[in-house]
Amino acid sequence: MSVSSQISDASWQQMAMFLRDIAQSNGARLSDWVVQVADLLSADAVAIVLNEPKRKRLRCVASTVPLKPTVESGQAIVPSVRSLAATVIAAGQPHRNTGRDRSLFEYLSSMEVESAFAVPLLCGDERIGVLEVVRRRDGVNRLPIAQMIASAFALAIVRDRDQAALRQAKAEIASFDQLKADFVGVASHELMSPLAVIVGHVSMVREDVTGEMAQQLDSALKAAARMRELVDDMINLRYIDAGQTQLDLSRFDLAEFIKIEAEERQKLFEERGQHLRLRITKRPLPVAGDQRMFTVVLDILLKNAAKFTEEGGTIGVVAEERDGKAWFAVADTGIGIPADELEKIFGRFYQVEHHLRRKYDGMGLGLAIAKDLVELHEGRIWADSEVGQGSQFNVMLPLVRDLAF
Ligand code: ADP
Repeated sequence: MSVSSQISDASWQQMAMFLRDIAQSNGARLSDWVVQVADLLSADAVAIVLNEPKRKRLRCVASTVPLKPTVESGQAIVPSVRSLAATVIAAGQPHRNTGRDRSLFEYLSSMEVESAFAVPLLCGDERIGVLEVVRRRDGVNRLPIAQMIASAFALAIVRDRDQAALRQAKAEIASFDQLKADFVGVASHELMSPLAVIVGHVSMVREDVTGEMAQQLDSALKAAARMRELVDDMINLRYIDAGQTQLDLSRFDLAEFIKIEAEERQKLFEERGQHLRLRITKRPLPVAGDQRMFTVVLDILLKNAAKFTEEGGTIGVVAEERDGKAWFAVADTGIGIPADELEKIFGRFYQVEHHLRRKYDGMGLGLAIAKDLVELHEGRIWADSEVGQGSQFNVMLPLVRDLAF
């Protein structure tokens, strides 16, 4: 018998609307749906049983007749042997039962079942559950229509399940982020005070000693300064996250600012036998921004350039107008960055080198901070690089005439 001869035109319309309703719904309204299925198929009872393989159980989630909760869980758990649902899940095929076997429907509290069939809810290979249709009087074969409905149910249930899983994953990520932010916040503040005490005392003693002792104290001070930088990174990050980075906006010439900031760090490069080359436009590059933040960004880029470039290498700093924007770049002749890492390095705690094999110090926070700060100024930062040849970090910012200021 063809599917179309099984129900009237009016029912077809009802069926079409029902299928559309299932496809469009947000959040499966399973208990409404079983009622509609019962109506469409002239059934005495309809139930949806979901397969929960992780918990090794079958659970009835919607039924048109009252369910009999199992004692332990208060939920309608369907026996996973000798029940209609279990048979259908095991076979992955529809099953018809005409006997009077109560145990097949144990979760239905009041029904005297004479005839029933069930179709699996399939999504690909996954047997997600069963649609059970109970009829006291046997009659027209409703199985093909039930299968059609079951397909729509399966898709809707899987979609809702996936959306719920996505929501949960997002919530977990948000709570991990919060945990990390809290940890970074507490750790940075807790480290700051003892560090200040160490630096204070070591500096005092350093003034009174010479020779080998002085050298040792200098290295201790250098290590403390490095630690201070890491703590500063953590604090910067925390402020950015908390939206507490209040921009102290002023209008200034980025070209001159970069020249001064780069020259002030000349010593950093000299210590490493590196050459600093500047190519800064003579024309002003008016930008609006917080100069303290730009100092942080430049500091991160210049220190990275020095760190990842061998002795005798060259660091170039360029600033000019490009495509109607202010552009500056810090280039080096260092180790370079693989193409597939060029975006990832702006992520928090990301470092190209594996942390167990690291030659270079750092926490993988600098570029993430630089990116946040540049973006706070409506700018863009990106890296170009070739492994073994060097890297170039570019920053593009709106010129002040583009800004309502
Ligand atoms: P870190 O404190 O580890 O330097 P950053 O966020 O500043 O953290 O940089 C992330 C990673 O990007 C670095 O660990 C390094 O692998 C890579 N990187 C950054 N700048 C350069 C550069 N100039 N040359 C080569 N690699 C770089």
